[in-house]
Amino acid sequence: MMANLTGLTRGGDEWTPAFISEINQGECIGCGRCFKVCSRDVFELIERDEALIDDNEDDFEDDDFYDDDDEFSDDTSMVMSLKNIMDCIGCEACYRVCSKKCISHVPLAA
Ligand code: SF4
Ligand code: SF4
Repeated sequence: MMANLTGLTRGGDEWTPAFISEINQGECIGCGRCFKVCSRDVFELIERDEALIDDNEDDFEDDDFYDDDDEFSDDTSMVMSLKNIMDCIGCEACYRVCSKKCISHVPLAA
Protein backbone atom coordinates (compact mmCIF):
# COMPACT_ATOMS: atom_id res chain seq x y z
CA MET A 1 0.00 0.00 0.00
CA MET A 2 1.26 3.47 -0.91
CA ALA A 3 1.92 5.65 2.13
CA ASN A 4 1.23 9.35 2.18
CA LEU A 5 3.76 12.01 2.93
CA THR A 6 3.66 12.88 6.63
CA GLY A 7 5.29 15.48 8.82
CA LEU A 8 5.79 16.04 12.52
CA THR A 9 4.40 18.68 14.82
CA ARG A 10 6.79 20.51 17.09
CA GLY A 11 5.70 18.09 19.80
CA GLY A 12 6.66 15.13 17.66
CA ASP A 13 3.19 13.96 16.65
CA GLU A 14 2.76 12.76 13.11
CA TRP A 15 0.36 14.62 10.81
CA THR A 16 -0.57 14.24 7.16
CA PRO A 17 -0.52 17.41 5.06
CA ALA A 18 -3.29 17.75 2.49
CA PHE A 19 -2.23 19.84 -0.49
CA ILE A 20 -4.50 22.10 -2.46
CA SER A 21 -5.65 20.45 -5.68
CA GLU A 22 -8.47 22.56 -7.05
CA ILE A 23 -10.73 25.58 -6.58
CA ASN A 24 -14.31 25.24 -7.72
CA GLN A 25 -14.48 28.65 -9.36
CA GLY A 26 -18.19 28.30 -10.02
CA GLU A 27 -18.74 28.40 -6.25
CA CYS A 28 -15.97 30.89 -5.33
CA ILE A 29 -17.22 34.38 -4.42
CA GLY A 30 -13.80 36.04 -4.72
CA CYS A 31 -13.71 37.12 -1.06
CA GLY A 32 -9.92 36.74 -0.77
CA ARG A 33 -9.93 34.98 2.61
CA CYS A 34 -7.86 32.05 1.30
CA PHE A 35 -5.31 34.43 -0.20
CA LYS A 36 -5.02 36.33 3.06
CA VAL A 37 -4.58 33.28 5.27
CA CYS A 38 -2.07 31.47 3.04
CA SER A 39 1.57 31.90 4.06
CA ARG A 40 2.75 30.74 0.63
CA ASP A 41 2.53 32.05 -2.93
CA VAL A 42 -0.32 29.87 -4.15
CA PHE A 43 -3.30 32.12 -4.87
CA GLU A 44 -4.10 34.90 -7.29
CA LEU A 45 -7.34 36.85 -7.52
CA ILE A 46 -8.32 37.32 -11.16
CA GLU A 47 -11.20 38.76 -13.15
CA ARG A 48 -13.98 36.24 -13.45
CA ASP A 49 -14.04 36.97 -17.17
CA GLU A 50 -10.51 35.62 -17.43
CA ALA A 51 -11.34 32.32 -15.72
CA LEU A 52 -12.50 29.43 -17.85
CA ILE A 53 -15.62 28.64 -15.89
CA ASP A 54 -19.21 27.96 -16.64
CA ASP A 55 -21.30 29.81 -14.10
CA ASN A 56 -24.26 32.04 -13.60
CA GLU A 57 -24.04 35.26 -11.61
CA ASP A 58 -27.55 34.66 -10.28
CA ASP A 59 -26.22 31.69 -8.33
CA PHE A 60 -24.18 33.91 -6.04
CA GLU A 61 -25.56 34.76 -2.65
CA ASP A 62 -24.26 37.19 -0.10
CA ASP A 63 -23.66 34.76 2.71
CA ASP A 64 -21.40 36.56 5.11
CA PHE A 65 -20.44 33.46 7.02
CA TYR A 66 -17.77 35.23 9.07
CA ASP A 67 -19.68 38.50 9.35
CA ASP A 68 -16.62 40.40 8.18
CA ASP A 69 -17.74 41.88 4.90
CA ASP A 70 -16.26 45.24 5.86
CA GLU A 71 -12.84 43.68 5.73
CA PHE A 72 -13.28 41.41 2.75
CA SER A 73 -14.57 42.15 -0.70
CA ASP A 74 -17.73 40.51 -1.94
CA ASP A 75 -17.09 41.50 -5.53
CA THR A 76 -18.20 38.51 -7.57
CA SER A 77 -16.60 39.92 -10.67
CA MET A 78 -13.40 38.47 -9.19
CA VAL A 79 -12.56 34.83 -8.64
CA MET A 80 -9.64 33.08 -6.96
CA SER A 81 -7.22 31.10 -9.09
CA LEU A 82 -4.19 28.92 -8.46
CA LYS A 83 -1.04 30.80 -9.39
CA ASN A 84 1.56 28.43 -7.96
CA ILE A 85 0.07 25.20 -6.69
CA MET A 86 3.54 23.69 -6.16
CA ASP A 87 4.27 26.16 -3.35
CA CYS A 88 1.53 24.71 -1.10
CA ILE A 89 2.67 23.18 2.20
CA GLY A 90 -0.61 21.37 2.83
CA CYS A 91 -1.78 23.21 5.96
CA GLU A 92 -5.46 23.41 4.87
CA ALA A 93 -5.86 26.88 6.43
CA CYS A 94 -7.47 28.05 3.17
CA TYR A 95 -10.13 25.37 3.42
CA ARG A 96 -10.92 26.37 6.99
CA VAL A 97 -11.58 30.00 6.15
CA CYS A 98 -13.51 29.45 2.92
CA SER A 99 -17.22 30.00 3.58
CA LYS A 100 -18.10 28.29 0.29
CA LYS A 101 -15.95 25.21 0.96
CA CYS A 102 -14.92 25.26 -2.68
CA ILE A 103 -11.25 24.37 -2.18
CA SER A 104 -10.15 20.73 -2.52
CA HIS A 105 -7.11 19.10 -0.93
CA VAL A 106 -5.35 15.77 -1.32
CA PRO A 107 -2.54 14.03 0.58
CA LEU A 108 0.60 13.36 -1.38
CA ALA A 109 1.81 9.83 -2.04
CA ALA A 110 5.27 9.52 -0.52
S1 SF4 B 1 -3.15 24.44 2.19
FE1 SF4 B 1 -2.05 26.10 3.28
S2 SF4 B 1 -0.19 26.47 2.01
FE2 SF4 B 1 -1.65 25.31 0.76
S3 SF4 B 1 -2.78 26.84 -0.40
FE3 SF4 B 1 -3.99 26.41 1.47
S4 SF4 B 1 -3.32 27.94 2.99
FE4 SF4 B 1 -1.78 27.91 1.33
S1 SF4 C 1 -11.98 31.75 0.50
FE1 SF4 C 1 -13.21 30.46 -0.89
S2 SF4 C 1 -14.80 31.82 -1.71
FE2 SF4 C 1 -13.18 33.13 -0.82
S3 SF4 C 1 -11.80 33.60 -2.56
FE3 SF4 C 1 -10.98 31.77 -1.52
S4 SF4 C 1 -11.86 30.02 -2.66
FE4 SF4 C 1 -13.09 31.83 -3.18
